[in-house]
Amino acid sequence: MSGPKRKVYIRTFGCQMNVADSELMAQLLADDYDLTTSPGEADLYLVNTCAIRRKSEAKVLSLLGELRSLKRRRPELIIGVGGCVAQQEGERLLAQVPHLDLVFGTRGIYRLPRLVSRAARERTVDVDLEEGCAPPPRRRWAPGKAQAFVTIMQGCDNFCSFCVVPYVRGREVSRPPEHIIAEVADFLAQGGAEVTLLGQNVNSYGRGLAEPVIFPELLRRLAALPGLRRLRFATSHPKDLSPELIGLFGALPVLCEHLHLPVQAGADRVLAAMNRGYSRQDYLEKVEQLRAACPDLSLSTDLIVGFPGETEADFQDTLDLVRRAGFHQAFSFKYSPRPQTRAAALPDQVPEEIKTDRLVRLNELLGEMQLAAHHRLVGREAEVLVEGRSKRSPWELAGRLRTNQVVNFSGPPHLVGRFATVRLTAAHPHSLRGELASGPPPA
Ligand code: SF4
Repeated sequence: MSGPKRKVYIRTFGCQMNVADSELMAQLLADDYDLTTSPGEADLYLVNTCAIRRKSEAKVLSLLGELRSLKRRRPELIIGVGGCVAQQEGERLLAQVPHLDLVFGTRGIYRLPRLVSRAARERTVDVDLEEGCAPPPRRRWAPGKAQAFVTIMQGCDNFCSFCVVPYVRGREVSRPPEHIIAEVADFLAQGGAEVTLLGQNVNSYGRGLAEPVIFPELLRRLAALPGLRRLRFATSHPKDLSPELIGLFGALPVLCEHLHLPVQAGADRVLAAMNRGYSRQDYLEKVEQLRAACPDLSLSTDLIVGFPGETEADFQDTLDLVRRAGFHQAFSFKYSPRPQTRAAALPDQVPEEIKTDRLVRLNELLGEMQLAAHHRLVGREAEVLVEGRSKRSPWELAGRLRTNQVVNFSGPPHLVGRFATVRLTAAHPHSLRGELASGPPPA
């Protein structure tokens, strides 16, 4: 292509995997499109969607409604929707939104340049899940980038009864270890320091690979790469959290002392109805083993309240499990029925006002626990990786501890993307305050 490149704007909804997918989209389109942060100047407007909750899906539809006037003003603008809602709705979405040019599913990302060219000529849909997880080309890393998300697998085979992921992201497919290692090595060679491995269920990484490599082995190989300072991963399924993996916490120095381990509920009958494959006792035993392996481990989780049939006694079991597990952080949601899932058809759907009441009570407890966890850190000196300006004040910096808590402190801008030592001075509900103890000089 000759002349100036066109511009693409990407709006991302949902989880870290979607953020990583959006980065990949930008990269795959980079020969023809430069990324813009201004939707008004875009020639291509992509929306990367999330279908995990009804609320996020509603936001996408409302955004698409708003884009109608933009398309009217500039008919040559190509509007595309990708990700989980696109996968779920396919042709229906194209029929519902007349100004939409392109619908591409979760694995259509790899075919994006071809799909965009086609969408410039005719309205296009690609929701094929069967083409598999094509190895992405070599990634281009932004200069000075210290943190990277690296997708190691796609899809999920677990079919939790509330979850739409197996339907919209397909069955599990793992990337070959050599591709992952090459991508991480490349990132480190360009000055990167922290890597978060992503997958719906990273613990079952490796199934179906030509070279049988299990997740702990992948971690060990990555940990041996020179330059890696921090290694994280998400998300772990409790049933697949092996003793070998637990043992790596505290044993692999680069593995951060943080684990996101979604429990979802605290009552056995609810866990069984959710098809989670573990009991509350199993979960609590794994927490105990984790704490024995790594006493400083911070644990975060996901929780759903108001799953069909959940009684007050079941909910009390959830509160009790939350206290016993001692979570440092949690993401809590009201159950919302999703298309195709088994739970959507279950009797005894819990009334909305009861879900709201339970969520409020759960969040009160979680808030107290999170604040208490922050208070326990006050007085210590700790390493932070500085991520950028603080959300609270543009004059301050924000960084993250190895245990994943956010710390705001005053410091020079040259620290962004670098490690510093911070004295933790005060605890807030969602973050800590600190004072810079030491940091590297300007580069
Ligand atoms: S493990 Fe369960 S909740 Fe997680 S993505 Fe798979 S089906 Fe969904």
